[in-house]
Amino acid sequence: CGIIGITGQGPAVPRLIDSLKRLEYRGYDSAGVAATVDGRTERRRAKGKIVELETVLLDHPLRGESGQPTVGIGHTRWATHGAPNTENAHPHKAGRVTLVHNGIIENFAELKAELQAAGHAFESQTDTEVVAHLIDQGLNDGREPLDAFKAVLDRLRGAYALAVLIEGEDGVILGARHGSPLVVGWGEGEMYLGSDALAVGPFTQKISYLEDGDYVRIDRSGATIFDTAGRRANRPVVQVSASA
Ligand code: GLU
Repeated sequence: CGIIGITGQGPAVPRLIDSLKRLEYRGYDSAGVAATVDGRTERRRAKGKIVELETVLLDHPLRGESGQPTVGIGHTRWATHGAPNTENAHPHKAGRVTLVHNGIIENFAELKAELQAAGHAFESQTDTEVVAHLIDQGLNDGREPLDAFKAVLDRLRGAYALAVLIEGEDGVILGARHGSPLVVGWGEGEMYLGSDALAVGPFTQKISYLEDGDYVRIDRSGATIFDTAGRRANRPVVQVSASA
């Protein structure tokens, strides 16, 4: 339902929460965040309001030896496949891959059956979790992260906006848009992904709207956007009004 991703300089988690609160108006049944803590991706999720997630974070802070994480993703979920509970809340994780998803993966059942036959164990009832397993499998097969990501996108049917963290790819967030909106937000030494301009509104008013079929790699210093054919794409940076 709502997506936010931050790769930057300052503490990411309080700002992920800030953004998720802005997305509350869209309606949701659960919420979660993931952040890179000492090189590993850790998640916190909760059913219900964002304040429930904040309580979980108070009890189990996302903080490491190296201090507060500066890279993370967040999600408000409107369940389409699988009950609204903590296990089905995003982010979903498989191996090195952690991601959030808006939309519906229409062919998830056949992908899940294939993955289960190959020994993958699932922990949710969502359509989303297959995407994490497929990307992780691509990495295990020796593909580069962007190649693994694109190869998986080509197998998905349905609608999706995705934001993806991969362990070992420090400071990097991958994103994709197909049928569900995703924007890139441009900051000073920081970059963002959001399901709309409002999601990144607390941080920047400089936005690039992705086109359908686009995928993107962001790090602190910028964004590289590709079209559906895998060619580098230029999407204009536009200034939205602060109240957008
Ligand atoms: N289909 C996914 C799920 O049920 C994502 C729903 C959403 O867009 O929030 O978990």
